[in-house]
Amino acid sequence: MDTQSHISLENQFGAQNYKPLDVVLNRGKGIWVWDVEGNKYLDFLSAYSAVNQGHCHPKIMQTLTEQAQKLTLTSRAFRNDQLGLFYKEICQLTHSHKVLPMNSGAEAVETVIKAVRKWGYKTKGIPKDQAEVIVCRNNFHGRTIAIIGFSTDEQYRAGFGPFAPGFKIIPFGDAAALEAAITPNTVAFMAEPIQGEAGVVIPRPGYLREAKAICEKHKVVMILDEIQTGLGRTGKLLAEEHDGIEADVTLIGKALSGGFYPISAVLSNTDVLGVFMPGDHGSTFGGNPLACAVARTALKVLVEENMIENAVKMGDYFQSRLKEIKSPHIREIRGKGLMIGVELVPEAGGARRFCEQLMKKGLLCKETHDNVIRFAPPLIIAKEDIDWAMERIAPVLVGK
Ligand SMILES: *Cc1c(COP(=O)(O)O)cnc(C)c1O
Repeated sequence: MDTQSHISLENQFGAQNYKPLDVVLNRGKGIWVWDVEGNKYLDFLSAYSAVNQGHCHPKIMQTLTEQAQKLTLTSRAFRNDQLGLFYKEICQLTHSHKVLPMNSGAEAVETVIKAVRKWGYKTKGIPKDQAEVIVCRNNFHGRTIAIIGFSTDEQYRAGFGPFAPGFKIIPFGDAAALEAAITPNTVAFMAEPIQGEAGVVIPRPGYLREAKAICEKHKVVMILDEIQTGLGRTGKLLAEEHDGIEADVTLIGKALSGGFYPISAVLSNTDVLGVFMPGDHGSTFGGNPLACAVARTALKVLVEENMIENAVKMGDYFQSRLKEIKSPHIREIRGKGLMIGVELVPEAGGARRFCEQLMKKGLLCKETHDNVIRFAPPLIIAKEDIDWAMERIAPVLVGK
């Protein structure tokens, strides 16, 4: 079947909740993917940073196929022999005390909101149903009803109300605004260390450290959503390390399985997860042995194959090469590790048309919001690959 036939099927039978580039992929290996016509592309999106380890990593694939032949799902009604080992390894790696595994990122966010609310009622004596969670403007935490209720993106919300109360929105990167927004009913502050979907928005150094101190002072749980920034993407295992802090709760997902399987986790450094009693929360697939086995290997290769160090080196190199481009279309190039955004001036006509041109040259990128091109290749990218890409990116960004 050719590209057009696949697209027609999708359009005929599928909900049109995405506007993908018109490339139909059927194979991936490392940083490369192939379409049904046999064309090869460098993947600069990495499935929104879910394939940090590269497509079809052989060791993760081996774990997946071996575990799939042994045991895939027990539900949490019974125990399985991968869960405890996964808990121990991820807690040791991230210096966490407790973990709760879920499936998608949005579920991890929903889970932590439940946990901090109950924590607040129990430990702070907040009156029933009055708990408040503070979040940031231009946040992205997922697409469920509770989460879009505190989004500031009109398209995410329009037509989907009514929404859950109990959220307060403050500007991102403003520690004073956080302190001013805290009331006796505040249970938590939740933020992304770098706002990815908002266009790779990096707060000034020290912001997270100040926010952490404010949270401690007022006995507010600090939650970092590292679903996109975590697991090596920014050149650290967790982006919080850039500010030398450990959040009370960290959310991870996406690259936790190297792209093989949906798995997310709530990691807690306080007694927050301790509030859950048997029956308070659950998920049929959460913590299943296939997911846990895959995640264990996905974490292992990330560390053992030095992908995080490579993200630092290649991120610096890629950013310096991008900054050599002289183009009237570029307003700013910013990034940490291999999470890089090229912001275009409004007159450039939007990032989408550049992504379409890059696709024709064998590079898959996706615009985020209207004017930012995000470059987030798998963390295994090499210098030669970046050089190859730059020969194509530079003329596109300079062109009309
Ligand atoms: C992708 C993402 C989510 C949601 O994850 P899903 O698996 O798509 O539900 C939440 N927060 C951040 C920062 C993300 O990038």
